[in-house]
Amino acid sequence: MTKEIRTRFAPSPTGYLHVGGLRSALYNYLFARKMGGKLLLRVEDTDRTRLVEGAVENFIEVFDWLGIHFDESPAVGGPHAPYVQSERLNLYTEATKTLAEKGHAYVCFCTSERLEQVRADQQARSLPPMYDKHCRKLSKDEVDARITAGEPYVWRMAVPDNEVVEVHDIIRGDVNFETSTIDDQVLMKSDGYPTYHLANVVDDYDMRISHVIRGEEWLPSTPKHVLLYRFFGWEPPQFAHLPLLLNPDRSKMSKRSGDVAVEAYRDKGILPDALLNFVALLGWHPQDEREFFTLEELVNEFSLQRVNKAGAVFDQAKLRWMNTEYLARLTHDEMWDGVAPHLPSELLTESAVRVRYAVISLRPGAESFQDLAAKVVEAFAPADISNDSWDEAQLSFVGEVADGLSTLPAGTWNDFEGLMAEFKAAANSAGAKHGLKGKGIWMTLRMALTGREHGPELGRLVGIWGREGTLNRLHAAIAAKLSQEQSP
Ligand code: GLU
Repeated sequence: MTKEIRTRFAPSPTGYLHVGGLRSALYNYLFARKMGGKLLLRVEDTDRTRLVEGAVENFIEVFDWLGIHFDESPAVGGPHAPYVQSERLNLYTEATKTLAEKGHAYVCFCTSERLEQVRADQQARSLPPMYDKHCRKLSKDEVDARITAGEPYVWRMAVPDNEVVEVHDIIRGDVNFETSTIDDQVLMKSDGYPTYHLANVVDDYDMRISHVIRGEEWLPSTPKHVLLYRFFGWEPPQFAHLPLLLNPDRSKMSKRSGDVAVEAYRDKGILPDALLNFVALLGWHPQDEREFFTLEELVNEFSLQRVNKAGAVFDQAKLRWMNTEYLARLTHDEMWDGVAPHLPSELLTESAVRVRYAVISLRPGAESFQDLAAKVVEAFAPADISNDSWDEAQLSFVGEVADGLSTLPAGTWNDFEGLMAEFKAAANSAGAKHGLKGKGIWMTLRMALTGREHGPELGRLVGIWGREGTLNRLHAAIAAKLSQEQSP
């Protein structure tokens, strides 16, 4: 019988979902779905110093937003529940006992002061920092006596001497590690919580994980895990370590070098489908040059064999471009639903029809919901009437445009699309009388109507403001100009 394919995403609850974490979760998802297997979410919260309140709920919410669903998780449960490590402590205690009985784990009483001293000595001699196995030599009697006396201790793994540990990796092939370079890793801490290494191996085994797909930063930990599987007498899962995520200058992507939280992209209005599509291509490439994939298409196309070893560049400009493409495909209703939450409430209550029209009119080229919302807000912003870049000579021109427009039948002004033609006609005929053409006409009107040199096409703005809005702006501009001129 072939083994069931089971993958997992195993984040530590640090408060946000890292884009590298999303890439791991996505590849685990794609692989499991493609192979007809299961994907589970396990929360690795044994480092009690790094716990963040609400982090698990946050993961679940972000994955819901992305449309990535887990077959087993803290939220939906499953046959291997609980899926939160802090609720599984007895398993790790038992596992530590097993290792101790087999002679693969030992008690260590070293204080942090001593460990620091060891590290400082190693540093001074340019040696890699490693535990010096000091407590491995203690006799059983001494250990028992010190434990009875209440001395705090941890359990460490007894890494064998002079061996080579082979890690078979689907992406990297065989990677060898000399045991002399592998630390006697702490497995169980003095607070009764296991370290990542012990809990990870125990749970991957207990949850019947067939494939461990995770970031390359975990590769150096893998020989420890391979040893632990051997100590327990368990068959290890298959490993696939995904390439690092890099900035365009090929430095490692980090919190300091830009946004790494998925939530930040969501808050900027990046669409979940665009983000998934973009993230899928960070390290994996399809058979052809195709760039756009739905989640379902990704499932069909995905294979771990087509994941690269080399680091993958996280190109923000490409993500924005991809998002623009996805946005362009939305229906007007979908666009509205995405933009509306980013608009100030005053705008929504005042002129919903016009605002809706503004969303439609200004959407070409929008990079995100936020970006489009900002354009809409800008379109409705009151004109900056303090500007003095048009003068008395143009005052009568502007006045005439206003007069020309106010004589039009009211109905014309509700026809958003037709309005521009009328506006142009009025502007051109007033312009002709005042010796203005082209840029002279439009720049003067733009300044009068908005007070700003740049902004959306004037025709679109006039359509958005409608009859009342446009006339009010023209009249306000004229009034402001007159009062400027009257003041000494
Ligand atoms: N808890 C680890 C993390 O925070 C999981 C690493 C792994 O997948 O083994 O990424």
